[in-house]
Amino acid sequence: NSNFAYDIADLTAKDRDHMIHPWVDLGTVQSREPLIVAQGEGACIYNVQGQRMIDGIGGMWCVNIGYGREEMAQAIADQARKLCYFSPFGIIGTPPSIELAERLTRHAPGDLKHVFFTTGGSTAVDSALRFVHFYNNFKGRPNKKQIITREYAYHGSTLLSASVSGKPADRGRMDLITSFIHHLPAPNPYRRPDGMSLESYGDQVVGDLERKILELGPENVACFIAEPLLASGGVIVPPPGYQRRTWEICRKYDVLYISDEVVTGFGRLGHIFASEPVFGIQPDIITCAKGLTSGYVPLGAFLVSDRLYSELTETAGKGQSFSNGYTYSAHPVACAAALTNLDIIERDDICGHVQRVGPYFHQQLETLTDLDMVGDVRGSHFMVCIECTADKKTKAVPPAEWDVARRIFEKCMPRGLLIRPMGHLIVFSPTLVISRAQIDEAVAILRACMSEVQ
Ligand code: PLP
Repeated sequence: NSNFAYDIADLTAKDRDHMIHPWVDLGTVQSREPLIVAQGEGACIYNVQGQRMIDGIGGMWCVNIGYGREEMAQAIADQARKLCYFSPFGIIGTPPSIELAERLTRHAPGDLKHVFFTTGGSTAVDSALRFVHFYNNFKGRPNKKQIITREYAYHGSTLLSASVSGKPADRGRMDLITSFIHHLPAPNPYRRPDGMSLESYGDQVVGDLERKILELGPENVACFIAEPLLASGGVIVPPPGYQRRTWEICRKYDVLYISDEVVTGFGRLGHIFASEPVFGIQPDIITCAKGLTSGYVPLGAFLVSDRLYSELTETAGKGQSFSNGYTYSAHPVACAAALTNLDIIERDDICGHVQRVGPYFHQQLETLTDLDMVGDVRGSHFMVCIECTADKKTKAVPPAEWDVARRIFEKCMPRGLLIRPMGHLIVFSPTLVISRAQIDEAVAILRACMSEVQ
């Protein structure tokens, strides 16, 4: 097939010699064959060899509307021709960025009526946290700066967003900000103490937040930042009611609540924003990215409540500005892509598809619990994680040298399934257009490969 006329040996050598990949295992750079992805169509990708695989990763939790959408290519090309770029600084805008800001607020809960655009999720989180600090300085409460977050959270890769993240594997040799950031234990029911009911565990992890606020003094606590479900930390689903109860605690102590919907937004849980319809919360700030453009081009944003923003605009004197932003904030090509992405999500009823097929996806993966190595299958709709264990009873983590998820990943690929291996976890976040038949195919491949690795 002429589409796949690549010099694979040449690409492999250039990759090894010149490209530094995020999170690559540095000890294996010299020897590991890269997966080089050349094309995508619907829920599938093709590597440079021309082999089709069901994309169980959705790019990186982001290609929500699926690959190869002609309308997206057209919208991007049209906007690039018309106006490739203009700065968003000060009072300058472009039609797509203004239209997108208004359109996003239509889907947002409560009075989240204002949008600040960034270049991706990390910069959305970074900007939101800087906004919270700026807001408290503005209000004359410079001490209200402490940020509460959780272990196993993932919020990004700028210094600030990495510092509020909490995956132990990412913290080892990296220097991070620790002076005003506090991590609570992850609310992970699978790892709750033996014999403790889910209800008591819920009380415990909700109580962790209240105790931390009281320990620091509410007058010193700026915000709590939380993914509704902890995504990259292993699709951790907190106990029922956790999101709502932690949000209520924040309100009680005048602590701002930031809901990081970079993964959960734009249909992955069956809604454009999951915070209110799924978890019953109206955060002060929502961060988003990824599915905002379905990964066709980079874009991120945070949405902030009218209550906070108007406090600034109604009382600010001349010369006061929120000094934060990027050359590519509100990039018009990205905003045009986001508008078309929303058109497609609405017209094709992608959220309806997720609501109908998401539970099926989860149920099918749950059938794998009869395998000895499967300790837990958890998640919701199109975010699911399989936790492998060395012993179902004790829930022992398999020794690192088993490299269990990586071995399964390597077996799945030649059979046509791409999964995301993370130590002993296998994470799924497929495109939101995956069909029941493709789910069946993926689960059959996974079962065969896991049985071989047992
Ligand atoms: N927040 C969450 C919940 C994420 O999962 C991610 C990325 O995976 C980010 C923020 C960072 O987004 P980005 O990689 O676009 O900078």
